Amino acid sequence: MANFTTHIAVGTLVSGSLATLTLAANVIAPENLIPITLAGVLGSVLPDIDLKESRPSRAMFGGLAIFFSFSVLFSAADRLSIVELWMLWLGTLLLVRYGLRNIFHNVSVHRGIWHSILAGLFSAAATAVVFANVLDRHEGVAWLAAGFMFVGFLVHLTLDEIYSVDIEDKRLKSSFGTALKLFDRRHPYATAGMAAALGLAIWLAPSPNVFLTGLSSRDMWAGLNERMLPKESWFGLVKVPSLIARTPSPAPQDITTGAITKEAPNNSAAPPAASP
Ligand SMILES: [Zn+2]
Repeated sequence: MANFTTHIAVGTLVSGSLATLTLAANVIAPENLIPITLAGVLGSVLPDIDLKESRPSRAMFGGLAIFFSFSVLFSAADRLSIVELWMLWLGTLLLVRYGLRNIFHNVSVHRGIWHSILAGLFSAAATAVVFANVLDRHEGVAWLAAGFMFVGFLVHLTLDEIYSVDIEDKRLKSSFGTALKLFDRRHPYATAGMAAALGLAIWLAPSPNVFLTGLSSRDMWAGLNERMLPKESWFGLVKVPSLIARTPSPAPQDITTGAITKEAPNNSAAPPAASP
């Protein structure tokens, strides 16, 4: 399997590329972009949460402990005394950090149900629930975060599967087929539990309609296509050679595409002065 560093590196790369597209699509406020990108990075290490002494597991339960202890603290702040708040905060922190983690590791099997697409779907729906109900974000933003989580999760499973092919010996390691799977055939109860958790998360999650409408919007994809390559020069320095200059797209509001078409014959006849 791929190690933690590889997972973080590839997960960050994929999430960063998606975040760039999201930014260019101009569909969400920039301050939502950081938590959404982090959801993708988190997804890329989450399947290894069931490894007992793994960094994702320690980091995850540490993070969850902080998250829940402060949520409890803030929700009870105006009702309890300071000493009670201290006890409540510390109690929640320890309970999640050690209690929940021990229970989790006693019931989970590595490369079991957590290494499945089903768990990825559950994590995505749970992300939407947390973004909408705990972080109080718009439902479209919540489902976008869910999408990032799911892509990160898939990247992890795919990477593990790729690493189970032994390149030098040209044979498959015994772990082949255990990383990327729809659900866990060996553990039907765990699979049923995960399916139930997925159902519950979907029931709690906000409506995905805004997200789905946005995702299927022709204008958004046309706009992204429009912005994919520079029109005149790279970084404002190196002129775009006419051969790979973008062909004008049918976006009606665009003004600059017409100019490129007109210039194209000249450019191909005489290369631009800026090129070496
Ligand atoms: Zn893994």
